[in-house]
Amino acid sequence: MKKTKRMGDWLRQPLRRLWRLLAMRCAHATQVMSDELDGASTAEDRLAARLHEAVCPGCRRVRVQLQGIDRWLRNATVKPPEPGGLSEDARRRIRRLLRDQQATSDKPEG
Ligand SMILES: [Zn+2]
Repeated sequence: MKKTKRMGDWLRQPLRRLWRLLAMRCAHATQVMSDELDGASTAEDRLAARLHEAVCPGCRRVRVQLQGIDRWLRNATVKPPEPGGLSEDARRRIRRLLRDQQATSDKPEG
């Protein structure tokens, strides 16, 4: 009796791990995908997410979308502001705009 119980204990942990791998839910799988892109996921979580994706087309789509967003964010460049305020190009455009407005308001009405 005692021996059987010990055998059950020996089997319980790997079975629990296997169950954790196979029973991942969508919310957890998508969180793991997001963490993976941030480099913050465990190997076991990544494996579970991959197994989940194998049977879940919705999560496969989410991965493609997350990868697209990640790529876009990595390629997005933010131009630092020019030292001393506006760029020469911006100043030129503003001057032109002001000049055009001035010309329009100087026109006689009618
Ligand atoms: Zn899913």
